[in-house]
Amino acid sequence: MGGLRTFGAAAGFAALLSGLVAPSAYALSDAQVEAVRAAAAREQPKVVAWRRDIHQHPELANSEVRTAKLVADHLKKLGLEVRTGVAGTGVVGVLRGGKPGGVVALRADMDALPVLEATGLPFASRATGTFNGATVPVAHACGHDGHVAMLMGAAEVLAGMKADIPGTIVFIFQPAEEGPPAGQRGGAQVMVEQGALANPAPTAIFGIHSLKQPANTLWYRPGPLMAAADQIHIKLKGKQTHGAWPWQGIDIVGVGSQIVTALHAVASRQMDVRIPLVLTIATFNAGVRYNIIPEEASLTGTLRTFDAAQRADVKARIVKTAKDIADAWGATADVSFVESGPVTRNDPALADEILPDLRLAAGSSDMVDNAILPTTVSEDFSYYQQQIPGVFVFLGVTPPGVSQADAPPNHSPMFDTYEPAMEVGVRTHVMLALGYLERHRG
Ligand SMILES: [Zn+2]
Ligand SMILES: [Zn+2]
Repeated sequence: MGGLRTFGAAAGFAALLSGLVAPSAYALSDAQVEAVRAAAAREQPKVVAWRRDIHQHPELANSEVRTAKLVADHLKKLGLEVRTGVAGTGVVGVLRGGKPGGVVALRADMDALPVLEATGLPFASRATGTFNGATVPVAHACGHDGHVAMLMGAAEVLAGMKADIPGTIVFIFQPAEEGPPAGQRGGAQVMVEQGALANPAPTAIFGIHSLKQPANTLWYRPGPLMAAADQIHIKLKGKQTHGAWPWQGIDIVGVGSQIVTALHAVASRQMDVRIPLVLTIATFNAGVRYNIIPEEASLTGTLRTFDAAQRADVKARIVKTAKDIADAWGATADVSFVESGPVTRNDPALADEILPDLRLAAGSSDMVDNAILPTTVSEDFSYYQQQIPGVFVFLGVTPPGVSQADAPPNHSPMFDTYEPAMEVGVRTHVMLALGYLERHRG
């Protein structure tokens, strides 16, 4: 990445790309780019107002009722065909352009997190919600407030260009990206099951996520971008005894300790380290008193992988390692996994194809990095990518002048969206949709 630049003057946007991309790859004319730029700038005050409203009224996964109504009312006002109640609170809007063409989808996620906001913003959340039976504070600590506002803004910009659009644009506002509450289903997987990618059926999908990176920059890579995530649950059962007579029972704390250490060795010594993998045991619960060796212990953790074969292999090894160690002690281990989502894998051809759109949206080629390293967080955008080619892009929302070391990461109580970056996000959505439809006129 080079230094930060502001958006260039109106003239010669295509020239920004000269020498970098073959002219045949250009999809949008300078006039189109200028029209998008002007419309996104006009839209920006509304996008900021929506974002602040949503930020002040955050809703947990599968409870995005107010947010969904805001979205649906807006899309209906724009004249879109609107379906509500998809996967619970999800909203799907369809904009049919005035010219024949293909179908492309744009996606935003609507849910907030059980986090006590500490940003001190005038529109900071004071909301509470119910999460797994407990009353919790709720905040948009992952930037989904901005995602919703940006896609609402993009819908308005595109609706204003409707007559000239060669094809159809599907706007997907989904619930529960962070995962549904325990015992519920939700998110992208259920959106797909309930027809978000049907009638009309898009042939490509794009999504944007705000991230702790320099403001207004766009980041992505072809191929695996974000990890598959599996929860690990291990329940151990031994035989309770006095802490002074361990041989009269089965030391389940000793068993669990060996399993934790052995699992770290599975990750570091048994797996091909050229493919990234993270195996974390994050909780270890056992016992109530210093002189009682308890009957049971439970371990939970997370597994992050980027390769389907490696994922299956390491899961089998986790099961074998835990069970064999428990067996050696005369204890038992019950191992289970809860899948949070597959690998977010950017279609390589589509990722290459959209690079000019992103450079135009960001305003200069050095504001776009198309070769970042994969990241070990996960995204349920992957479920759409299992159906159709898709590309997921990160948008930098750290304010200028704040170092990356000091910037609060996503899910921190201090996380905030640098609002001017949302204008880049709106342009990105719009240019991705227009660029794709222009290139796939059939
Ligand atoms: Zn998140
Ligand atoms: Zn998120």
